[in-house]
Amino acid sequence: MLQTWQGLAVDSASNFYLKQNLSREVPVSGKRAGSLIVVVLLCSCVGIASDTKASPNPIKITVDASQVSQRILHATLVFPVQPGPLTLYYPKWMPADHSPDGPIWNLAGLKFFAESKEIPWQQDDVDMYAFHVVVPDKVTSIKASLDFLISAPGPTIDFSASGAANLFILMWNQVCLYPKGWAAADLVFEPRLTIPPGWKFSTSLPIKQQADNSITFSDVPLDLLLDAPVQSGEFMKVYPLNAPGEAVQELDVMSDEPWALEIPEDLVGHYKQLVKEAAVLYQSHHFRDYHFLLTLSDNVMGLGQEHHESSDDRVKQHSIVDPAARMQMASLFPHEYSHSWNGQYRRPEGLATPDFQQPMKGELLWVYEGLTDYLGTVLSARSGLLTPEQSLDHLAIAASSLDHRYGRQWRSLQNTANAAQILYFSVPEWRSYRRGTDFYTESILIWLEVDTKIRQLTDDHKSMDDFCKVFYAGDEGKPVIKTYNFDDLVATLNGIAPYDWAQFFHTRLDSTAPGAPLGGINGGGWRLVYNDAANEFLDSQDSASGSGDLTSSLGLEIKQDGVVADAIPGMPAFESGISPYMKVTSVNGEKFSVDALKRAVHASATEKDDMIIETENAGRVRAHRVRYHGGSRVPHLERVSNVPDYLNEILKSKVPGGDK
Ligand SMILES: [Zn+2]
Repeated sequence: MLQTWQGLAVDSASNFYLKQNLSREVPVSGKRAGSLIVVVLLCSCVGIASDTKASPNPIKITVDASQVSQRILHATLVFPVQPGPLTLYYPKWMPADHSPDGPIWNLAGLKFFAESKEIPWQQDDVDMYAFHVVVPDKVTSIKASLDFLISAPGPTIDFSASGAANLFILMWNQVCLYPKGWAAADLVFEPRLTIPPGWKFSTSLPIKQQADNSITFSDVPLDLLLDAPVQSGEFMKVYPLNAPGEAVQELDVMSDEPWALEIPEDLVGHYKQLVKEAAVLYQSHHFRDYHFLLTLSDNVMGLGQEHHESSDDRVKQHSIVDPAARMQMASLFPHEYSHSWNGQYRRPEGLATPDFQQPMKGELLWVYEGLTDYLGTVLSARSGLLTPEQSLDHLAIAASSLDHRYGRQWRSLQNTANAAQILYFSVPEWRSYRRGTDFYTESILIWLEVDTKIRQLTDDHKSMDDFCKVFYAGDEGKPVIKTYNFDDLVATLNGIAPYDWAQFFHTRLDSTAPGAPLGGINGGGWRLVYNDAANEFLDSQDSASGSGDLTSSLGLEIKQDGVVADAIPGMPAFESGISPYMKVTSVNGEKFSVDALKRAVHASATEKDDMIIETENAGRVRAHRVRYHGGSRVPHLERVSNVPDYLNEILKSKVPGGDK
């Protein structure tokens, strides 16, 4: 489709960077993607229409990471300029974050030089991400030097926590400035990087040359530079995942310690299967090669961040060797890998901004993230990363969790998407009443319903697999963006199976009625039930985190140390006076532990007396009488025999001969 952006702001007509109106098919690099680009330049006195445009010389960006073990990156940037006022931006809205969270708070040492002479700068008094300088007469380039300070992981999102003693992930936006007035795809950068001696690195960025620990990358437009992190560390290992003759797809593992680099053969096998299953599902790809950049470390922020040609995947160091942690990260790669198709290649119009300063609109995040979560769930099962039983357990937890969202009565799912830029930074406490980024998990249920509905409408001849083949087709092997809107989505679905899809989505997205959308589970031949049998996925979740999820019994989520993460209004724990941030100290006279609490819940079915839970709240101690006698109430999916089992059909391997 055609997308038109209004003119970007301009410093002055005398500046080298001219005001532009851009009208183009896709906001990607014409240089790399070879896609249609039509640009109209508007000068101050006369409009010039052209299908080519003057482009500034490349901007040199040189990053010195030799001191990264001390948690500091040094960078210099050289900008071609003309005399006069110039505004430079620090990237604010990062495409994979859907939020204005560029980590400017850890920028330090910023200085500008014109021919070796320092020139003054001013930060904009409203936009903290804009810096103003005046380029002196006759000067054709200025240099910026800056440092980026690396932090340690904390309780909330902090993209500065990206390195430690012997590893780091360079996110180019951390050390980047770019001139106002240009679309990111039209600014070419010459990136260079120096890493500590003896360290290895991996990235999807094409390399021009390398001398020891100094790497020069090929010239790259700004949008793709910021889309291509570099992983570097003392200990790294590469596992090829593609079959011979196919585009290179590999797992690049980095860790603080060498023992953690050994990925078990069976897990590598599942990742190879993931690549095969994705090829069958999508029947296209939009990368030249693809790198799963896996960092196993307790010293960087946990993360799964998608890019066109790589994913920045960071989990705790023990995540592969601990079976519970391994199960919890099963869908990480399937999710981030699916983003190369859904989110990177096909991107909602409101999230495809021309540069990194324009605000994004999250209204279609239930597709960008929600459909990705569904496809990631499907591919986790198809590739064997989760067994069918574990996948069903996972779906049961998702359904139960959303079915117990007290905040459904005031905040629609659509609103969680619209408000994503604030909800990403919300804490787990009060999650049920406030709601969080529910457009991930709840959309799994909705897209499952789309899948089963298509199967019902077409007598099982079509499915979401057919949607994927159509929606993600085109531009083979190129890291490009093709935008869409709600109507495009509905039209594609109607091409697969005619139905009132607009109404279907609006009913589910705009609802403020209680109860999660369970039509997909029911339409898939299953139903949500509760009993006292173990849910393997829930047990692994509690085991990996040390916490206790008692959502469907007491309406309580509790941390390992007894601090209440959430208490759901209307359910027994909250109604007894318990709320988030209180600390549970004892249960029925026994010192608190997650196990002690679970045992008490289990025994409640046969106990005549109410449960007594003691809490500490800002120095005050109180005993709560919890009126609950339902015993363990663990979510499961149960087969409904008179409905076709579409769910297991969806989760089954689709690679010929790959059925396990
Ligand atoms: Zn995602």
